[in-house]
Amino acid sequence: AINKRLELVASYVENKRLADIGSDHAYLPIFLAKEGKIDFAIAGEIVEGPHKVSIKNVKEEGLSNTIDCRKAAGLDAITLEDNIEVITICGMGGKLISDILEDGKDKLINKPNLILQPNVGESFVREKLQQLGYNIVAENIMEEDGHIYEVIVAKAGEMNLTEEEKVFGKYLLKEKSDLFIKKQKLELNKIKYILSQLQKAKEIQKDKVDELEKKYKEIQDIIS
Ligand code: SAM
Repeated sequence: AINKRLELVASYVENKRLADIGSDHAYLPIFLAKEGKIDFAIAGEIVEGPHKVSIKNVKEEGLSNTIDCRKAAGLDAITLEDNIEVITICGMGGKLISDILEDGKDKLINKPNLILQPNVGESFVREKLQQLGYNIVAENIMEEDGHIYEVIVAKAGEMNLTEEEKVFGKYLLKEKSDLFIKKQKLELNKIKYILSQLQKAKEIQKDKVDELEKKYKEIQDIIS
């Protein structure tokens, strides 16, 4: 069994040819292959150790003909001949995910669906998707082991997000689920703490304080 976070990501996979980038142990493609949801996957991983583990796990499951473990940076793991229909990138910061998409954008010309699960920095991801000609079709938020995670699903298309929608997510904003509110309250506490630390400093960094106070108010407005 895989964790709930990866299971949620898996639930959005609706194509047969997958590339999971930063696959680590390859649990996601293994799960999807066993469920019969995919019939080909690339498990891309940049670090030797996890790459070796992914090969071992895939072999143990008897899936070596279905899942190809490749050691590569980002979308270098894919060639256009692989005809990848959906790419998953999960469990990393949003900045890194957006850099991987930017650096590998020549692999996105056929516009595979994207299912992205940034741990932080979601706004980088939404911004990049908009730039690259993607439209967000679904968002989800979930909690596991004390962490709150967002999942962003995008398909080829146009969108025009406001700054607010980039930060908070168009769908998540509309829905304002209890978990979304909880996440924003945690964010408020974080900002409050940073502000209190800044007030203690000898030299007040006015710009920084102003910026944080603005952000604080913005979040408060959204959840009130
Ligand atoms: N995707 C899995 C998940 O969500 O459970 C694993 C997440 S793990 C925290 C992130 C993995 O991404 C690590 O194994 C790391 O080595 C790999 N990684 C980081 N940068 C990468 C890159 N540019 N290309 C491929 N893999 C990368």
